[in-house]
Amino acid sequence: MVDFVADYHRDIESFPVRSQVKPGYLRPLLPDSAPAEPETVEDVFADLWSKILPGITHWQSPKFFGYYPCNVSTAGMLGEMLCGGLNVNGFSWITSPAATELETIVLDWLGKLLHLPEEFLSTSGKGGGVIQGTASEAVLVVMLAARKRALKQVSSAAQGMSEAEALSKLVVYSSDQTHSCVIKACQVASIATENFRPLPTDASTNFALSPAVVRKAIAADVEAGLIPFFLCGTLGTTSSAAVDPLEELGDIAKEYGMWYHIDAAYAGNACICPEFRHYLNGVEKADSYNMNPHKWLLTNFDCSTLWMKDSEFLLAALSNKPVFLRNEATDNNLVVDYKDWQIPLGRRFRALKLWMVMRLYGTSGLQSFIRSHVSSAKHFESLVRADSRFEVMAPMTFSLVCFRLRTLPGSQDTSNSLNSKLVDALNRKGNILVTHTELSGIYTVRFAVGATHTELQHVQAAWEVIQAEANHLLNGKQ
Ligand code: PLP
Repeated sequence: MVDFVADYHRDIESFPVRSQVKPGYLRPLLPDSAPAEPETVEDVFADLWSKILPGITHWQSPKFFGYYPCNVSTAGMLGEMLCGGLNVNGFSWITSPAATELETIVLDWLGKLLHLPEEFLSTSGKGGGVIQGTASEAVLVVMLAARKRALKQVSSAAQGMSEAEALSKLVVYSSDQTHSCVIKACQVASIATENFRPLPTDASTNFALSPAVVRKAIAADVEAGLIPFFLCGTLGTTSSAAVDPLEELGDIAKEYGMWYHIDAAYAGNACICPEFRHYLNGVEKADSYNMNPHKWLLTNFDCSTLWMKDSEFLLAALSNKPVFLRNEATDNNLVVDYKDWQIPLGRRFRALKLWMVMRLYGTSGLQSFIRSHVSSAKHFESLVRADSRFEVMAPMTFSLVCFRLRTLPGSQDTSNSLNSKLVDALNRKGNILVTHTELSGIYTVRFAVGATHTELQHVQAAWEVIQAEANHLLNGKQ
């Protein structure tokens, strides 16, 4: 299996980046039921090559520029192997003390690398970090904590208001660029979806939230008797890597007693480099902060890190103590039981891979990884700018370039349909993979540099592929 994975990574550039299969391709290739008798691993391998690999989109290809990256590394894989090999279920400290304690320690390490305020570290006594599976889970658990806090505040301030009535009045604020995980958290946390405010952004603020817009929306809601309780700022939005004004948002949240969360799933990773750390200014005003090392910090999926200043309301929202889990360390409050910081009970020993990555790369290795992608993305941006048939659609701050092809005068195509044809053609041919978004209603191509194996040469080659496709679309030339 190790050889298979090694060969896969060696040969990865020979596969079309996006899987070329059609929906339902696998069912006719596999038996209807599981085998009655054991099969051999050789049989499974044969199917792996012939039936499974064609249905893989190669996220680890250096020619993968879609979505945001999903990093891999030898260190991360070793961590995964250890995690699978030991296969502990570390939901409470007692179920594997090392799993809990290592997680606390590596989250402090990473928190220090990011220069998070002391309150976010476990050494503060009240706060600390935890590994979630995804940013969506991180946002959900902090929203549940915020809801608990808000309902407590309301019940002490407005006597007589039922919890159900208070819940129906709670309002969540973020920008229209915020990841859909925030509305999903509202859905799960029973926050009325009409009380979710995805506030408008546009090119004039580079698609970042405007504090004036936030204030206006909050004032109108307060006037209407609603209760602002959760504000989510984003460092590196999904569509264009915009950065919300984190400091000003922190002031607004404080003024209205709201929980302030910062989602930095992708771009937060860059903040381990001193030259990017200033984007995180304002985190000192936040209640909680999350980022995904599994996106862009060499840690195999899944590893989404979340820190908060005070775990009190998280525990109030999620902790319970069934008799079958009781033990002396828990009963005497001597330990953290991470089951109380997440939705499921069971949890993998994910800290091993972050520990491996941080040790085997060192801070310097991690920083040069980020810097090499940022400089390749800058190169790509300069190539786009140098070709007048294209335009850059948003500032390039980290390693995401948003661009589009301009339509030729007199062309039948609208810009949106031309660019959608461009993306479809690129992905269908499979030489590279890019994805798209809309910025102010304009179809925009996203080119995210960040796959572990991507180097400058891949970015240069990708640009040549894009230019050739543009020639073809605009002039019928290949
Ligand atoms: N937040 C941001 C800013 C993202 O870009 C993404 C995914 O790209 C997410 C949250 C969701 O991440 P996850 O898949 O870890 O839930």
